[in-house]
Amino acid sequence: MVWSQPSTGEIDAIVLNSKRLAIVGASNDPGRASNQVLKYLLDQGCFEISPINPNEENIHGLKSLPSLKEISTKIDVVIVFRRSEAIKELLPEILALRPRVLWLQLGIRDDDSSAIANQSGISVVQDRCFKIEHARAKHSAQDSFRPINLAQSEPFRWHGVHEHIYKADDGPATFKDVSRRKLFVESAESGIELRYFEIAPGGHTTLEKHDHMHLVIPIRGRGSCLVENQIFELSINDMIHVPSWAWHQFRAAEDEFLGFLCLVKVDRDRPTLPDEKDLELMRQDAQVAQFIREKQTGN
Ligand code: MN
Repeated sequence: MVWSQPSTGEIDAIVLNSKRLAIVGASNDPGRASNQVLKYLLDQGCFEISPINPNEENIHGLKSLPSLKEISTKIDVVIVFRRSEAIKELLPEILALRPRVLWLQLGIRDDDSSAIANQSGISVVQDRCFKIEHARAKHSAQDSFRPINLAQSEPFRWHGVHEHIYKADDGPATFKDVSRRKLFVESAESGIELRYFEIAPGGHTTLEKHDHMHLVIPIRGRGSCLVENQIFELSINDMIHVPSWAWHQFRAAEDEFLGFLCLVKVDRDRPTLPDEKDLELMRQDAQVAQFIREKQTGN
């Protein structure tokens, strides 16, 4: 389990596109950073903010809640102003709330807790100030019309693009030997994201479905994929459209890598994994039954 800091582009997307924030350790003391950050974010006029502090009633006119457990709405980012040692204790509440992002302010770091949060699908920013990053991203978004030329450092690897954890979903992992790289992320909610996935010989992605769609173009090797109840052979420069809510899974050939570009929306839903009933339905088609891989061990 490893934690990785989101890229500058991803941090831009987080601070510019998030709406509902919970601020743990918010304070009424104007000398505290948490007070100044809350004031700055309120002044932006684009955030809904829940201060969390059992010792305060109101902060800048907002009702302060005793803990994250009191929150019943969806939260985009939990911003934390606590000592690094307190993160571990706070983690169960954060995992239960399932925000898109856990944000630890400047000087706060807990790699173990961050890795656990990452593993359950929560992006984690550590040791950064939300206010500073927001001010910077807002400024750079204003003159962001500049071309990007992403050159390869070697075949299928790009300068400055690192490998991400492939998938952080609930439940058991169902993929095998997959790596993921983000080539481009637009910093607008309505924007697009281009990723490169690479599956080692014999490996496969998770069998899943979701509201957002994929456009997939293989650029390395060979493989096959399931889209709803159809199986397609994949060769370089083919194009596959995975429509909304279609079950899908990609597999590399037994003796070759499969690498593909995958285009998605920045603002997208989490995948749904099949339950026993779904699998039973899928297995009624003999070809599909033979194709799908459900366990991390494959087969
Ligand atoms: Mn998918």
